[in-house]
Amino acid sequence: MPDMRKYLFVTGGVVSSLGKGLTMASVAMLLEKKGIRLAMLKLDPYLNIDPGTMNPFEHGEVYVTDDGAETDLDLGHYYRYTHSPLSRASIATSGQIYDTVIKKERHGDYLGKTVQVIPHITDEIKRRIAHCGEVADAELVLVEIGGTVGDIESLPFLEAIRQFRHERPHNCLNIHMTYVPYLKAAGEVKTKPTQHSIQTLRGIGIIPDLIICRCEQPLSREIKDKIGLFANLSPQAIFEAIDVKHSIYEVPLTLHRDGIDARICKELCLPNSVIDLSAWQELVKTVISPKGTLTIGIVGKYLQHQDAYKSIFEALEHGALAAGYSLNIRAIESDKEEMIHELSGCDGCLVPGGFGERGWEGKIAAARYCREHNLPYFGICLGMQVLAVEFARHVMGHIHANSTEMDPHTKMPVISLLSEMLHREDLGGTMRLGAYQCLLQEGSKAHAAYGTSSISERHRHRYEFNNRFKQEAEGAGLVFSGMSQDGSLCEIAEIRHHPWMVGVQFHPEFKSRPTQPHPLFRDFIAAAAKAKSHD
Ligand code: GLN
Repeated sequence: MPDMRKYLFVTGGVVSSLGKGLTMASVAMLLEKKGIRLAMLKLDPYLNIDPGTMNPFEHGEVYVTDDGAETDLDLGHYYRYTHSPLSRASIATSGQIYDTVIKKERHGDYLGKTVQVIPHITDEIKRRIAHCGEVADAELVLVEIGGTVGDIESLPFLEAIRQFRHERPHNCLNIHMTYVPYLKAAGEVKTKPTQHSIQTLRGIGIIPDLIICRCEQPLSREIKDKIGLFANLSPQAIFEAIDVKHSIYEVPLTLHRDGIDARICKELCLPNSVIDLSAWQELVKTVISPKGTLTIGIVGKYLQHQDAYKSIFEALEHGALAAGYSLNIRAIESDKEEMIHELSGCDGCLVPGGFGERGWEGKIAAARYCREHNLPYFGICLGMQVLAVEFARHVMGHIHANSTEMDPHTKMPVISLLSEMLHREDLGGTMRLGAYQCLLQEGSKAHAAYGTSSISERHRHRYEFNNRFKQEAEGAGLVFSGMSQDGSLCEIAEIRHHPWMVGVQFHPEFKSRPTQPHPLFRDFIAAAAKAKSHD
């Protein structure tokens, strides 16, 4: 059967950090609202098999899917803006592609042939593009190619999408996103970098059908004509991604106003139905005129890197907007001594996930402050372990309680590896990754938030709460409100006599959407708003 699926390829030109992922997610959201079944794929040119081993300073957050793939943070944008299924099939790095080809070569699958970038690497890229559409049974596959046109690393991807289109000439569309800077000194916008980027793309054999120009100033008809002339395109095929005034939630609204979704549907012969964006308009309205501001302290150690806690920042924002507030995030470095003073002006405190010892004691001090001062606290993954150890130290009186990650020889291993607890070496220190079912205790804050007894959330950690201490902790006022399905692992811990102090072993931030805030983030923010109103 011929492949009748449609494909939309998005490349980037001129500079990186143009917001290609966000733009693509916004375009995808508009198309999904027209009733088109989507799949999304990120092709990443780096050689790591996945970003799991990369320092968050380097690459930003690692976004985890239900099936346990450790992926690029752009998949987080895809999740927040669409409902398209995300899995291992939604990302392919150069590392994975080379790994597959080299393994096949060792296996003798190439029958003695010389293994080369073309056709073997490009074939593997094409296979993955087709596979992504198949597993999702999508009508349209959106493929984002990481990096900037002209980079050596992304060449095999560009060659692969050129061939892919050659094989399906009527079902593919290329979008090229570039930058059209405004030069203050000259008092005008400059199209030259865009012209060069289009030329480079053309040299590789790719002719863009639509161009999205990231710009600070609106583009005049004259400028669009000029870009169109170089690109062999009518000015109607040149779109603006203009810097938004108030919020990223304006991006889909401005793109829609510009008519990009209608144009894509026309080019790919897809149904162009009328869509309702009122929920997004409401979000922007709240951003512009909130009823107040909430200050949330985030106690972590990767805070200088804007993207290291991307999904957490987003999920907090979703919760704040749902409550009608704007959000002020106070980044509190956990290894600074004066950090506790910074917490005192906050309406709530969040301790995010993390690895390693640095900043650990600072996080414990933050949790203690929140518990003793009734300040809403939300602990995520490592933040839950912090909550448990702080409780063991200062409420249960085990002053030496610790996690074996921080002190392998602690006598009070409240948090430890499963292998240590079960005395089984074969379990090793492997990471628990992906979605697991969790059962909630009625009457708890977690149950009140979710409104259901069984949930599924995504994990990315090695250490667990040590059940040896469970009974004693319960007696002292720690509620284990979420347990794994077989009852063996503590997934949620909350302080009974506290307005809202909840720690979760999983990562709820990966499953929050602007128009559907995650229940725990929503309730944490609601508790912070309540605390503020009592001030
Ligand atoms: N370092 C902790 C563990 O491995 C927490 C991990 C995290 O916060 N993602 O269990």
